[in-house]
Amino acid sequence: MLENLGPQGASVALKDPHLGQSHPVAPAHRSANAPVGSKAVSSLDESVPDDERPHAIVIGSGFGGLAAAVRLGVRGYRVTVLEKLDAPGGRAYVYRQDGFTFDAGPTIITAPYLLEELWTLCGRRMADDIDLRRIDPFYEIRFDDGETLSCSGDLKTMRAEIERIAPEDLAGFDRYIRDSESIYRVAFEELADVPFDELGTLVRAAPDMIRLQGYRNVWSKVSDYFTNHRLRVAFSFHPLLIGGNPLTTTAYYCLIAHLERLHGVHYAMGGMGALVEGIAGLIQSQGGTIRCNTQVEQILVKDGRAHGVRILGGEILEADILVSNADVGWTYGKLLGTHPRKRWTDRKLERASWSMSLFVWYFGTNRQWDEVLHHTMVLGPRYEGLLEDIFSHKHLSKDFSLYLHRPTATDPSMAPPGCDSFYVLAPVPHLESGVDWKLKAESYRQAVEDRLAETVLPGLGGSILTSHMLTPIDFQERLLSYRGAAFSLEPKLFQSAWFRPHNRSEEVEGLYLVGAGTHPGAGIPGVLSSAKVIDKLVPAAASLRPRVRA
Ligand SMILES: Cc1cc2nc3c(=O)[nH]c(=O)nc-3n(C[C@H](O)[C@H](O)[C@H](O)COP(=O)(O)OP(=O)(O)OC[C@H]3O[C@@H](n4cnc5c(N)ncnc54)[C@H](O)[C@@H]3O)c2cc1C
Repeated sequence: MLENLGPQGASVALKDPHLGQSHPVAPAHRSANAPVGSKAVSSLDESVPDDERPHAIVIGSGFGGLAAAVRLGVRGYRVTVLEKLDAPGGRAYVYRQDGFTFDAGPTIITAPYLLEELWTLCGRRMADDIDLRRIDPFYEIRFDDGETLSCSGDLKTMRAEIERIAPEDLAGFDRYIRDSESIYRVAFEELADVPFDELGTLVRAAPDMIRLQGYRNVWSKVSDYFTNHRLRVAFSFHPLLIGGNPLTTTAYYCLIAHLERLHGVHYAMGGMGALVEGIAGLIQSQGGTIRCNTQVEQILVKDGRAHGVRILGGEILEADILVSNADVGWTYGKLLGTHPRKRWTDRKLERASWSMSLFVWYFGTNRQWDEVLHHTMVLGPRYEGLLEDIFSHKHLSKDFSLYLHRPTATDPSMAPPGCDSFYVLAPVPHLESGVDWKLKAESYRQAVEDRLAETVLPGLGGSILTSHMLTPIDFQERLLSYRGAAFSLEPKLFQSAWFRPHNRSEEVEGLYLVGAGTHPGAGIPGVLSSAKVIDKLVPAAASLRPRVRA
């Protein structure tokens, strides 16, 4: 999508032809005190030429990569983050266009304590940099016939909503909330940040898995508690937020209901970009570097050990340890070159179940819809059938279910005065569907617009000021994601924990994985937890003799 890319790592301001706005770009080398175009750029290499710390390279600056960089900095490494795009954040990239700000990807912050930990590790307070606001109701679900369900963290309010829709399911709701907590205690609190690189860990976790019915899927588990179809939908759709099909995702993900209630649903004022900048600032304060416009072409391996990277264009950077936050399919399928792979072979990658992709439309309007909440699910006429189409048949259906983000409900800074900033997304099959998105995108966008206009945004047609789209092709070409999957590997039981690509690479020594494709999985809490796993696996820098210099 971004054209006019400068030389690898060069300090240039890019003009995105689709956006009409310049983005500050991380310079390759800049002194700590030099003014930079964005807080999110840093390099202290020049200011600390005698830096003798062992060198860690992190490939990719998604939330997982940034969190790993902070933790490696705390463990004594000199850290360099290499990012293909012109700004950090990965899926949490920010588009700025015609006075509107659009968070490209994640919008819902749950488990903010995992973010706070990064600030604490650096001896700072997140509140000094980030203005986090609690959102309640969390979201509204609008069913196809216009009926709505408002989902709140307040138990009394939530029970009243259940009673209004299906009083016969009130007892089931109470049981569900209780059981969701039990699953959360084990699957999230005990296991999310545990390294699953040894079979023994899986064996030890197995009794709990059986007791909590992790072998079942979310839909069937939820159906034990609710008889009303709407409530079954409302309490089972959560795996979609992390790329899973509720019909096949392990019932462990029923934990999300409790996670939301326990920690709340939050928004960072200024959008996700503020959080990305905040974490990048931590890396800067540790003397780390984020180098944008820098695509890693190959991980260099000698005698079975990773020792550096070759950047597109030929530059070689040596490292004592390497962490890949790039897509796992890309890391194993492309970045290891001819290095033989024992487990994650091309065949295994091809046969794996990759998550669905997304169609995302960002748009700004010349008016506001005050009655529309910050987060709304606009459901279509089908649920199970639509999921089958997306995940099993890889068929792009005419109908869809949508998630609508209206950050201006909380944060007026995301749009010019009197305007609304939106994005709407529809889960769609990944690129195995064969859909030619270059041809299809505009008609699909129009259908989405029509649906919004007839449901929650009446009068939308004449009020659009600015518009931008992402399709599965962007996930593949821009973020280098296997088959354009939006959330890497699907969170099925046999692609979770020990079965997922390990955080300590099974293929190459000195290589670690962080982010959506490794344990525990996608979503901000997941990828932040994967950085905690790395923290447990990587040797303390003090135990290494630095082999390489800047
Ligand atoms: C539209 C959307 C909405 C979402 N909503 C939510 C939400 O509300 N809440 C939530 O918790 N989660 C949400 N998610 C999921 C969440 O955003 C992701 O799971 C998470 O951000 C992924 O982080 P990551 O660490 O895996 O890295 P990614 O964000 O995937 O970033 C990886 C980075 O690596 C870079 N890279 C790749 N290859 C190379 C290479 N060879 N060289 C250099 N750099 C490379 C890429 O450019 C990218 O910047 C959403 C996702 C999407 C797409």
